[in-house]
Amino acid sequence: MPENNEKETVLLPLLALRGLTVFPGMLLTFDVERPASTAAVDLAMKTNQMIFLAGQKELTEELPEAGGIYHVGTVCRVKQQLRQPRGNVCRIMVEGLYRAEALNIWPDPKGYSTEIRPLPDRPERISAVRMQGLLRSCLSLFEDYLRQAPDMLPEQILNILANPDPSYVANYIAQHLRLEPEEKQKLLETLQPGKRLMLLAGYLKRELDIMAVEKEINDAAQEQMNRNQREYYLREEMKVIQAELGEDGLSDDTEEYRRKIEALPVSAEVRDKLLKELGRLSKQPFGSSEAAVLRGYLDVCLELPWSKKTKETIDIPKARKMLDEDHYGLEKVKERILEYLAVKQLTPEIKGGLLCLVGPPGTGKTSIAMSIARATNRKLVRLSLGGVHDEAEIRGHRKTYIGSMPGRLISGIIQAGSCNPLMVLDEIDKLGSDYRGDPSAALLEALDGEQNSSFRDNFLEIPFDLSEVFFITTANTKDTIPRPLLDRMEIIELSSYTDEEKLHIAKDHLLPKQRKKHGLKANQLRVDDEAIREMIRGYTRESGVRLLERELAAVCRKAAGGIAEGKYKSLSVKPGKLEPLLGPARFKPEQRRVRDEVGLVRGLAYTAVGGETLDVEVAVVEGSGKLNLTGNLGDVMKESAQAALSYIRSRARTLGIDPEFYKNRDIHIHFPEGAVPKDGPSAGITMCVALISALTGAPVRGDVAMTGEITLRGRVLPIGGLREKTMAAYRAGVKTVIIPAENEPDLAEIDQDVRQGLSFVPTDHVDKILDLVLVREEKPEPALLPQAQSLLGAERHTVRQ
Ligand code: ADP
Repeated sequence: MPENNEKETVLLPLLALRGLTVFPGMLLTFDVERPASTAAVDLAMKTNQMIFLAGQKELTEELPEAGGIYHVGTVCRVKQQLRQPRGNVCRIMVEGLYRAEALNIWPDPKGYSTEIRPLPDRPERISAVRMQGLLRSCLSLFEDYLRQAPDMLPEQILNILANPDPSYVANYIAQHLRLEPEEKQKLLETLQPGKRLMLLAGYLKRELDIMAVEKEINDAAQEQMNRNQREYYLREEMKVIQAELGEDGLSDDTEEYRRKIEALPVSAEVRDKLLKELGRLSKQPFGSSEAAVLRGYLDVCLELPWSKKTKETIDIPKARKMLDEDHYGLEKVKERILEYLAVKQLTPEIKGGLLCLVGPPGTGKTSIAMSIARATNRKLVRLSLGGVHDEAEIRGHRKTYIGSMPGRLISGIIQAGSCNPLMVLDEIDKLGSDYRGDPSAALLEALDGEQNSSFRDNFLEIPFDLSEVFFITTANTKDTIPRPLLDRMEIIELSSYTDEEKLHIAKDHLLPKQRKKHGLKANQLRVDDEAIREMIRGYTRESGVRLLERELAAVCRKAAGGIAEGKYKSLSVKPGKLEPLLGPARFKPEQRRVRDEVGLVRGLAYTAVGGETLDVEVAVVEGSGKLNLTGNLGDVMKESAQAALSYIRSRARTLGIDPEFYKNRDIHIHFPEGAVPKDGPSAGITMCVALISALTGAPVRGDVAMTGEITLRGRVLPIGGLREKTMAAYRAGVKTVIIPAENEPDLAEIDQDVRQGLSFVPTDHVDKILDLVLVREEKPEPALLPQAQSLLGAERHTVRQ
């Protein structure tokens, strides 16, 4: 073979390859098109079929220079030449014979030629074992490669396993690996088989790594594609299933909505609006969130009782009977309500109603409203307005918000299921207003008979007629009801119950009600009147009867439990026997004050739980004119203390007080029960008397209580809650109560027992009562409190030392 003789050079035609490398021992088929290349093949075919194949460095060159062709190439035999039907192209099959080096290249458009010298494999210093190892690792890498490369067949490995010669193996792998032309050229130029295998192993490893990454990316892409396809198929399938079931989802339910809207007894304006929204719904894709919002909207509109109502009956004698059946006392309240109903009966054009029941908790406001609902045959709904700050709570949120809903009023109407219910709006005095809007403005629109026939809720966006609703609002006090609302409502006031009234309510209403609730018969539980009185005095302190009802419920529970367990057949609750049932009494009877004391005066307060006595203590010590007020007082109360002080300063001489007292004395005014917030002007007279007593040293009569606002000139102004306050004074064992002269007419409202038990002294000026309340000895010198005196004495003593 000529390749064995390195010295011998041969002249051969040359074919420049573009992107191809042929290794010795390999068969390759490819097309030839360039004239210079076909000419070279023709020449070879005319001689001994031998041709030198070498890569060209720049693939785009048509006729490369000698330097543009790699000098190391392969001498091949053209085994076949096949002319192709189109143009000059011919397909040839070549067999690589041996590596060779071109010593000279003669480029010629009519066929390149070259003078070559064979390049046999070079021996290298490598042990047989190492060579074997190299070979095996290349083979196994190649096997992996074949398995993973998309255009390779794993069986190809068999070709080389049959001929495990390192040189052949290296050539074979190099021929079949997907490598850059430069890399293949490098393999061709590496003459030592061991080194060639090393190089190959490196390339194989890299290719395997690249393929692993490729695979990872492909898998991820495939998974994504599968998911999308899966969803697509599921959707298509759902459509088919719906069609099969005859539930062409959207359009069917649109039809249903349309039918219902057409049937609604509403104005053309409202119907048009609803149909417009339905039109929008039908354009939404199935399952979109917008569609859900629109569906929610239509459902609410369809659920509204547009013209569904109960037939109102106003039968005054029947109403009177019902109110009397359900409530003890409350004569004036019942009378006012019956008058109101009578007027309503005579003016049928006024369809709704608006009342406001004001009174302490548990005095029967809600229960009166319930009786009215029953008597007028209206459905009853209750809404609490306490703590509502946001206008949107009354008027609703626009439906564009996710989860928006109609406001409380419209929700109440839906709940009632009729457009003329009796709606109880509790705690209207506790409405708030802040940056989120003023709920009272929205309420005003709803309650005002002039405007409420087209109340607009933000969610509905269409007017709803509230003019047939009978509104009853409840409040604990008139003071904090927004003025415009207050002006539009008919106010009916309920006041605290006396202990005697509570006893009757408990006996005639609460106990039978609770007995029934707990499944007890009248003969299974008896509670003595005196025991109920104990319950009222020791276990509750309230204006109404809520806690009393709760205590009675507790007694019923105990009785029911005992009877069920078989401990007894019936229970009779006697006075002095409440502790085992209700635990120890929570309230001790108020202490009757027997001693007259300096700087300590009993005032009267009106709180949410009714009337209470409220003591004021004043201490005067030497100092620099500081005024100290403690006991959790509000601003009005503080101002009223200042007013009292200013009045005393202006009358100091007449009162026998050192005119400089405001410079050389510190004054401390304190109200006990510091944890309870206190405010209001009605303790003015109390503070004033306590101050005068402390400054003059004259004790105050212990059996006197007082209430009244005072001015800078000592005038006494009227106060509220007289009924409750006098009740508290009566409970506390007070004998004389000083009240503002202007409150005198209110004495008519006061409970019989209280009126008989107390003596009232109306006054219009502080001066007029001082002789009555102060126990004065003839002692013009201002005096200090006993302990303050001793303290001051001690202090003086130390200074003198
Ligand atoms: P409010 O609404 O004023 O807070 P409720 O109406 O809830 O008070 O009254 C609390 C309980 O006391 C109810 O069970 C009610 O029936 C009962 N009640 C209140 N006043 C009377 C009364 N005058 N006669 C009979 N039961 C009464």
